[in-house]
Amino acid sequence: MNFQMTKEQKDIRQAAKEFAEKEISEIAREYDQKEEFPKELWKKACDLGFVGVYLDEAYQGPGLGYLEAALIMEEFWRVDPGCGCVLLAAFGTELIQNFGTEEQKRKFIPPVPQGEAIMGAAITEPDAGSDIFRVTTSAAKEGDAYVINGTKMFITNGSIADYLAVYCLTDPEAKSRYERYSFFLVEKDRPGFQANKLKGKLGIRASDTAEIVLNNVKVPEENLIGGKEGQGFPQVMDLFNINRVIAASQGVGVAQGALDQAIAYVKKREAFGQAIGKFQAIQFKLAEMATMVEAARLLTYQAAWLIDHGEKNPRLIAMAKWLAAETGVRVTDDALQLHGGYGYINEYNIERFYRDAKIVEIYEATKEMEKLTIARQMLGKF
Ligand SMILES: Cc1cc2nc3c(=O)[nH]c(=O)nc-3n(C[C@H](O)[C@H](O)[C@H](O)COP(=O)(O)OP(=O)(O)OC[C@H]3O[C@@H](n4cnc5c(N)ncnc54)[C@H](O)[C@@H]3O)c2cc1C
Repeated sequence: MNFQMTKEQKDIRQAAKEFAEKEISEIAREYDQKEEFPKELWKKACDLGFVGVYLDEAYQGPGLGYLEAALIMEEFWRVDPGCGCVLLAAFGTELIQNFGTEEQKRKFIPPVPQGEAIMGAAITEPDAGSDIFRVTTSAAKEGDAYVINGTKMFITNGSIADYLAVYCLTDPEAKSRYERYSFFLVEKDRPGFQANKLKGKLGIRASDTAEIVLNNVKVPEENLIGGKEGQGFPQVMDLFNINRVIAASQGVGVAQGALDQAIAYVKKREAFGQAIGKFQAIQFKLAEMATMVEAARLLTYQAAWLIDHGEKNPRLIAMAKWLAAETGVRVTDDALQLHGGYGYINEYNIERFYRDAKIVEIYEATKEMEKLTIARQMLGKF
């Protein structure tokens, strides 16, 4: 067992850290308040090869792995979760890389790491979230095209994406419900495509979120991911497995960032004649926070490393995502508490981190669904 990162991984982590500290920290509050996606930051992150690091060199990606993607995400979220979401510009490319036809890979992957296009994956609907079998957006075959109708909800990058991978019902009558769905690549400029930006999010407000209305949107059959109907369910499960690890790294990042802020604060804030960090009760709290972050980090790295070595382990991935999300929420809460009244005011960044952390317990599966995955793997059929 080797717990050492390679020199290349350490260098990537350091480069991501330096980039985030230099480019993100100054604009973070502004973009949170504006609820706007930081386009310039996204471009710079692409130029330095941080977006879609797991994409093959054959498709103009950096050709690294998901552990590297997790390390970069962690460092970005450590500085600011909202702006750190620029890395999600590649969300959905995993589907094309793992399941797309050669033609789809050549057409849709290269623009994303090159900073020429933003992607997203649209699965959730107004009445279908955790229960994915309630998805009703339909894709009906008409000649050599498909006509898509339906509404998607809470779609990351929805109003800024150039194209989305859209999860659709292609065969409602299929005997097995696992064979009813397919993914399609849908470009934003197709007639009938409408994106309505959602404002007023609690956190990650620099990340774009939208409702997508698809009204008789016609896409050529070449846009069916993998070229074969009925493959959507295993594809979406694969996408979830990958992105739950990425979400776990967000939980680790937001928690580490909050811990960093708490450590700096308790060293300078004084009460009862000394810095509050000298009180043992506060030292115990910091020790608990740091231990939780380290445990979540280890589980996250293990799950990511396994993916890069050919094993997507749903149980371990769900554990990493749940623990990291819980750690993000608890550690930001503790860090805010250590800031006292100042923590409650946006003069300090911890207020934003506290709001941002919560999303990791919701997207890429809620914490309850993660626990179901873990429990079902243990119990099996009985
Ligand atoms: C900011 C943001 C970005 C998002 N980005 C995307 C995106 O890019 N693409 C996309 O497709 N979706 C996206 N989502 C949607 C997200 O994945 C869903 O919100 C999430 O899966 C939960 O679905 P839901 O909101 O319908 O909640 P529901 O499924 O209605 O769940 C409501 C509550 O019931 C609980 N619950 C449901 N079923 C069970 C059960 N069997 N046992 C116990 N508890 C249960 C849930 O855990 C939750 O607490 C995003 C959401 C947000 C807020």
